[in-house]
Amino acid sequence: VNRRATAVLDPFTAGSPVLVGDPDDPVVFLATAAARVDGPALERLQELAGGMTVLALGDGRAAELGLAPLRVDRGQLGLALTAPVDAARGIRGGWSPRDRAHTIRVAADPQSRAADLTLPGHVHTARIGEGATVAAAAALELARRSGTAPAVVLGAITGRDGRPVTLAQADARPELRRLPHASSAQVRGEALSRRSGGRVFECALPTHAGDFRALALEDPATADEVHGSVVALVHGDPAGRARPLVHVHAACLLGDAFGSLLCDCRAELGAVTEAIIAAGAGVIVYVKPGTTDPKRRYHCGRGADVDLAPVLALLHGCGIDPGAPGGAAPPAPAGRWFTHRS
Ligand SMILES: [Zn+2]
Repeated sequence: VNRRATAVLDPFTAGSPVLVGDPDDPVVFLATAAARVDGPALERLQELAGGMTVLALGDGRAAELGLAPLRVDRGQLGLALTAPVDAARGIRGGWSPRDRAHTIRVAADPQSRAADLTLPGHVHTARIGEGATVAAAAALELARRSGTAPAVVLGAITGRDGRPVTLAQADARPELRRLPHASSAQVRGEALSRRSGGRVFECALPTHAGDFRALALEDPATADEVHGSVVALVHGDPAGRARPLVHVHAACLLGDAFGSLLCDCRAELGAVTEAIIAAGAGVIVYVKPGTTDPKRRYHCGRGADVDLAPVLALLHGCGIDPGAPGGAAPPAPAGRWFTHRS
């Protein structure tokens, strides 16, 4: 169990920084509720993160405030930056932490309109929509869950060279390791699960190896060639187990279906199936990673980016809660066993 896994939402809602990210995320952020941030909190978040501090809003809210995309910065922070803003009233120069925190709270306030902001100003803004990095999308999701406003202050955690660091690198700093931490896949998985009401399609699936049930999310939201898709094969009653066996298998058409000897995907799937049958219960989550690369479409999914949010949502639909709400149980990479309860 991650020692910092609990109580992410409380400090976030109070305007304190929480660390949002997973081991595979290219950028990890410090994030806090925009509606609650004040000058000292903003200063602290900036100092701890070291990188650019951005007020990030949902697509709809950004459009309401008249914030048009400036450019898509996928290279560094993966954020769609919009125009920097100031509050139209209540600030002096605009640059002090107090002034910027005021501007952030004005922009986050659902009552505010475009006329309440002036641009260009001193607060960097970004919109989080389709194509946002998972950590940024998860941070916005925390803001939605906090009940404050769909607006989040993001501080990109960067190294001395100004480049984004990984979660492992952030964790190497004691002052960051002490902060509450949310797994981006877990936060997004919970959101997906809530939105679908936990509903899944389900059918009995007898196989040569044994009896399974096949489950899929009723509203997968993003199941297609680009985003991938996910199905769970459930044997027995894993939800009743203290440590249910869960295996995430990345799809490999040539290996899984045709028994290609160029990889060991089918052998792995066979071994996993046997282990689950022997244990009497377990889940195989079969993930077809999304890809725009036609050459990768039919090959091993291992090594591809697997979005674990729908995996966790589907596990939730199977009655398996992979961790505390907003917690940071690190999702295991595809192709490995993982059990989250401990
Ligand atoms: Zn393979």
